[in-house]
Amino acid sequence: MSIVRKIATKQQRALEILVRLKRLYPEAPCTLNYQTPVQLLVATILSAQCTDQRVNQVTPELFRRFPDAAALASADLEELEQLIRSTGFYRSKAKNIQRACWQLLTNFAGTVPQSMEELLTLPGVARKTANVVLGHAYGISAGVTVDTHVKRLSDRLGLTQHKDPIRIERDLMKLLPQPEWENWSIRLIYHGRAVCQARKPACDRCALADLCPTASCWTPTQETGKTATSSITVNQLESIR
Ligand code: SF4
Repeated sequence: MSIVRKIATKQQRALEILVRLKRLYPEAPCTLNYQTPVQLLVATILSAQCTDQRVNQVTPELFRRFPDAAALASADLEELEQLIRSTGFYRSKAKNIQRACWQLLTNFAGTVPQSMEELLTLPGVARKTANVVLGHAYGISAGVTVDTHVKRLSDRLGLTQHKDPIRIERDLMKLLPQPEWENWSIRLIYHGRAVCQARKPACDRCALADLCPTASCWTPTQETGKTATSSITVNQLESIR
């Protein structure tokens, strides 16, 4: 019997998926390059509607010219725009970066604040950006980052029925223990890039196939050959962290 049917609750299935994602991607670092929390904030703003790979192509020169909040806040706007042009929406991104950096200088002594509430006061910063910065710069699990991969996979895995990122995040926060929120997001992003791609999910080689209610929608049903373990509790997760 498929574990999709055997595991009774959505939460148990989510926990089982998390266990497998941790085995698949034991090391799952942030794929944006940065040296400081300010640089991560800027790189994350740049990653909107853009690949991390592209962002990593522009940030070396950007951070060489403007390494911190003070330099970015007082940068020539046109030069800033040209440096980030290839990431798309460069005019609004440049404005947001500069305004955010001014605000960091004015309200936070040039550093990135460590709370969701404070981060959301910065121009160009919504929950997705704030979650990435808190999770990767400070190790604070304040929410679940919902990017295009997390959105797509959470839908395909039957863990949410919502399309709106805020509602998806709320659903996922209810299913997963708080310390795992960012672990979940980053590994689901890795899986979305490697296996469950937007146009052609590779269900035939997906280690989550027996947990995924939409696996048979993409390819003829195939056995993965992996035996699903029994459902797992929150406490059992501790052993594989
Ligand atoms: S089984 Fe297919 S749709 Fe489900 S997570 Fe894996 S690749 Fe994506």
